[in-house]
Amino acid sequence: MSKQRIYINDVGVRDGFQIEKVFIPTETKIAFIDQLSKTGLAKIEATSFVHPKFVPNMADAETVLANIQRAAGVRYTALTPNVKGMERAIACHQSGAAIDEMNLFMSASETHNMANVKRTTAQSLQDFAEMVPMARRVGIRTNGTVSTSFGCPFEGLVSEARVMEIAEKYLAIGFDSLTFADTTGMANPRQVERMMREATKRFANTEITLHFHNTRGMGLANVVAGIAAGVVHYDASIAGLGGCPFAPGATGNICTEDLVNMLQDMGLDTGVDLDKLLAAAVKIPAIVGHDVPGQVMKAGKTMHLHPVPEKLYTAS
Ligand code: ZN
Repeated sequence: MSKQRIYINDVGVRDGFQIEKVFIPTETKIAFIDQLSKTGLAKIEATSFVHPKFVPNMADAETVLANIQRAAGVRYTALTPNVKGMERAIACHQSGAAIDEMNLFMSASETHNMANVKRTTAQSLQDFAEMVPMARRVGIRTNGTVSTSFGCPFEGLVSEARVMEIAEKYLAIGFDSLTFADTTGMANPRQVERMMREATKRFANTEITLHFHNTRGMGLANVVAGIAAGVVHYDASIAGLGGCPFAPGATGNICTEDLVNMLQDMGLDTGVDLDKLLAAAVKIPAIVGHDVPGQVMKAGKTMHLHPVPEKLYTAS
């Protein structure tokens, strides 16, 4: 029997770099994406089309997309919060800097959506009804993210029925795929398994991705729960970078190389070369100028064995 395949989307250069205080030089971003492209990842979230005043680190979206060396088999995606961003993305795509997919997002929680994008959820859905056909007309696929699917830092628990209802609305609008995001790290494994059993049943023909933050240390446990429910696509961030500028206390995404190490140990096929991924991850502290949460890059792979201490064999 062949190993079960799990698909990994690295969001570090977007979800991670966007909150860094210092501007990461455009050439550094391009070189880093090129390195990630050679590791076997299924997808890379390369940048976002947001107003540069709010997220200065993403101001170079067009230049980044125009200069990366696209690898066969990798889907390159970009995020945008609004119609203006979609217009920029389409212009970029049509100028030859191809974008495979646009990722649009709205919070399941009304309060979080207002805090994050200054829109009611009804307004966001209206925007999407305009944006999704725009993308489709030029051959860009669209992914709809339901942020705060597993809890909201302002409202607490989000109704599971509401999350499913939003996903239904997304598909009615015409999104090609869905992401359920635990934006501020409030999900727990039982909740994830329960909700994803429901989602994989209701949206059986739709690609479903899970996006976890490790804010309370439950990130990888939530992945195991998601896999048990049949979800095979996961977002993760190289070196564990990330957070959300509009989510109080939100820390990093689950770490890509820690995730790959775990999945490999579990006998699953990620398609990723862990050594190549680690070679990229170790560059991150110098790029961002601070320590990062990634653990395997510090401890070594599980099967990175150590010499037996000599003292063990000397009689004391
Ligand atoms: Zn995130």
